[in-house]
Amino acid sequence: MKIEIKDFCIRCGLCEDLYPELFHFDHPSDAIQVKADLIEGDLIEVARNAARDCAIAAIHLKS
Ligand code: SF4
Repeated sequence: MKIEIKDFCIRCGLCEDLYPELFHFDHPSDAIQVKADLIEGDLIEVARNAARDCAIAAIHLKS
């Protein structure tokens, strides 16, 4: 599974706050970055929770 952050992300920081094992706010690019290219194992559930919790559905999961 892979994670894509859509361009309409409003950079609220919630995903980084709740799931720092997966998300990082990159100041130079002013964008949320996903820490892992391939989401496996325990991170799959984390990714699903993050996609659910993003208020504007900017976190997309791709199998
Ligand atoms: S929770 Fe959603 S809108 Fe907020 S920073 Fe993360 S991806 Fe962007």
